[in-house]
Amino acid sequence: MTLCYREIIEKRETDTLSPYAMLSANSRGRKKQIEPCPIRTEFVRDRDRIIHCKSFRRLKHKTQVFLSPVGDHYRTRLTHTLEVAQIARTISRALNLNEDLTEAIAMGHDLGHTPFGHAGENVLKSLVPGGFEHNVQSLRVVEKLENGIGLNLTYEVRDGILNHKKNGAPITLEGSVVSLADRIAYVNHDIDDAIRAGLLNNESLPKNCIEMIGATHGERINALILDILTESFNKNYVRMSDDMSEEFEKLRDFLFNNLYHNPIAKSEEGKAEALVESLYKYYLTHIDRLPDDFKKYIDEDGEARATADYIACMTDRYAVREYERIFVPKDWN
Ligand code: MG
Repeated sequence: MTLCYREIIEKRETDTLSPYAMLSANSRGRKKQIEPCPIRTEFVRDRDRIIHCKSFRRLKHKTQVFLSPVGDHYRTRLTHTLEVAQIARTISRALNLNEDLTEAIAMGHDLGHTPFGHAGENVLKSLVPGGFEHNVQSLRVVEKLENGIGLNLTYEVRDGILNHKKNGAPITLEGSVVSLADRIAYVNHDIDDAIRAGLLNNESLPKNCIEMIGATHGERINALILDILTESFNKNYVRMSDDMSEEFEKLRDFLFNNLYHNPIAKSEEGKAEALVESLYKYYLTHIDRLPDDFKKYIDEDGEARATADYIACMTDRYAVREYERIFVPKDWN
């Protein structure tokens, strides 16, 4: 008789995880029922579905903060995602939560990001009736857009993806872990990338924050994680202490004022915005040219949303090529 490895793992979850963890056997399940896997739990399956999908691979050519950086060492949306997953799993494991659910949410949380980072997101936000939010779009990717049918993920993973932003309220603690890990990851790696770019230096970082959180990238991540663990161990919530949260928010505000709105870092953003706007308006007026996987949702969601879906799925370089193909005159042959 073949062993059902999944059942052994599910039993191990029941025996060893925190009473506040989300057990995979207790998942509310998928919109379309599928045959259980003999090896993997439902959440491991979701992680695998995400890692094997095309939207995930496209993250490598999407901007995190720096548009088309020349250096190979800047973060992309893909390496950001991996850093979030690593921080989130560290927290989940220490709190005895479900590490597989945590990883699945982390891997999927940014699938809906537009090309050119927040520049692209802001353009669609201003143009699309009903607005545009990357977390809502990540949910659309896994529910509908990937391969034209979506990934049919479990309720808990979809909930964690939708609610990963700061004001979100995920139903699982694993979702809260990813939300915190996302902020820890980007604040710290954006500082690192900004120093690499010569836009900030260690001396320019706010003194009090650095004293409390740490002087180096590694020290800061360690201190933030430790603070969350101390505050949340054996509790039915996951959060940062008030003191740490206050300094962390100051550091985040500092980045908003000195990096995210820095004219040098943003020098190419106007061009990226104009490019995204041109592509959106072009496809909205040539709706028949949308690929079939996007056209199929026009009846349900309208032409504007289907167009935004197509634009949002593009990588930075695909968007540039599309722009050149449509708008730039070609040489005579
Ligand atoms: Mg993120």
